[in-house]
Amino acid sequence: MLNEHFPITISEDEVLSERDLLKKHEAGLFMNDVKSVRWLIVHCSASREDRDYTVEQMLRDHKARGFRTIGYHFYIRRNGEVTQHRHLLEVGAHCRPYNRCSIGICYEGGLSADGKPKDTRTKEQRYQLQQLLVKLHRLFPGALVRGHSEMPGATPKACPCFNAAEYQWIESIV
Ligand SMILES: [Zn+2]
Repeated sequence: MLNEHFPITISEDEVLSERDLLKKHEAGLFMNDVKSVRWLIVHCSASREDRDYTVEQMLRDHKARGFRTIGYHFYIRRNGEVTQHRHLLEVGAHCRPYNRCSIGICYEGGLSADGKPKDTRTKEQRYQLQQLLVKLHRLFPGALVRGHSEMPGATPKACPCFNAAEYQWIESIV
């Protein structure tokens, strides 16, 4: 028998009590299985094409909205730098009510210098986004590639500011 007393810290997880452990499980921080991922949802950060929107700024903004961390699984900066913010099967916070069955990928930009919706993807972002979607398709072959604004019942405006149908060929790679 483990002779430890609560709170028990395992890795970065602090478990306050057995009840707390069950609560975390019920909160469903993770999806059930690989088949849970039915959509790969593309977003933009809705930041201006001539401005930086760093990981740190995004983290601050998402925490201000009450998220534990950045809501997207992946973020692609204008220079093509890709960062991961959620585990693959971790439930994200990017597209209600689809967070339990999707992976969220966001590129930096989506607005012109004067603040209007615009496809601002750089060559580097296009390349990295395609690479990432192809890899995710290998892991989740049944998942469909969609832009945020295409998701029925979602409440975005123009996000991701381009037609994600350009990536639909990825769905049929075998
Ligand atoms: Zn979005």
